[in-house]
Amino acid sequence: MNKAVRKAVIAGNWKMNKTRPEAKELIEAIKPLVADAGCEVICCVPFTNLETALEATKGSNVKVGAENCHFEKSGAFTGEISADMLAEMGVEYVVLGHSERRQYFGETDETVNKRLKAALGAGLKPILCVGEMLADRENGITAELVAMQTKIALKGVSADEMKNIIIAYEPVWAIGTGKTATAEQANEVCALIRATLASLYGEAVAEATTIQYGGSMNAKNAEELLAQPDVDGGLIGGASLKAPDFATIVKAATNG
Ligand code: PEP
Repeated sequence: MNKAVRKAVIAGNWKMNKTRPEAKELIEAIKPLVADAGCEVICCVPFTNLETALEATKGSNVKVGAENCHFEKSGAFTGEISADMLAEMGVEYVVLGHSERRQYFGETDETVNKRLKAALGAGLKPILCVGEMLADRENGITAELVAMQTKIALKGVSADEMKNIIIAYEPVWAIGTGKTATAEQANEVCALIRATLASLYGEAVAEATTIQYGGSMNAKNAEELLAQPDVDGGLIGGASLKAPDFATIVKAATNG
C-alpha cells in the first residue's frame, strides 16, 4: 500500500453548531492557521452557514461542504435540500450517511446510496460515512457490517466516479464520546474498506481512494491515527469547532 499516492483530507463536521457570525469568526480563525497545509482542508457546515462559509473561504485553501443532501432533485420534501441546490451555490463536498443521520433520522444504506448518486450527479464530492455500533464490534461483525455498508452505499457507482468520493470510517461508539479507536483498530477497518473497494473496482481504485478515520480525533491523538498506513485523513466533529485544535490536526495530516 502506498499512502503517498492518496490525497490526505481533513474535514470538519460542525454538526448543528454556529450561527452565521460565529461561523464567519471560526473560518477567519482557521484560514491563517491552515494556509500552508499539505493536505486538503474542508469545513462541512450547517445549511444556513454555507453562504457565509463560501464567502469567507474565497481565495483560501479551505473548501466548503454541506452535512447532507436529499436524493430527489426537487419536489414535496419539506425541510430538505437537494444536491443541485448545494452545487449551484458553489458547495464542493457533502457528508453522507453520517451515523447521526442513520440513528436519529432513519437513514438506511439504501437511502445513503440514493443520496450518494444524487450528489455525484450534481457534481458534488461525497464524504461517505460508514461504521459499526458498539454491539456490532462486541458481536465480532465489524468487518462484515462495514463491508456491507460500503457495498450498498456504492451500488451503481462507477470506478470513474470513485475519484470524487472520500470514505470516512467512523465507529459509532467513538463519535462524540471521547472514546477513540486505537490507531490499530482504525487502520484495520480502513484497510478492510480498501480491500472491499479492491473487490468492487480493482486495486488501482482502492489504492487511490482517500479513507478517513473519524471518532473523537483531536489535537492529541491525531498524529498517531494519521500516521497509520491506511488512514488518509480525518472527519472531525468536536475538535473542528476550535481553530487551534483543528489546525493541529491539519498539521498532523500534512506530516503523516
Ligand atoms: C463526526 O461528527 O463525524 C465526529 C467524528 O465527531 P467527533 O469528532 O466529535 O467524535
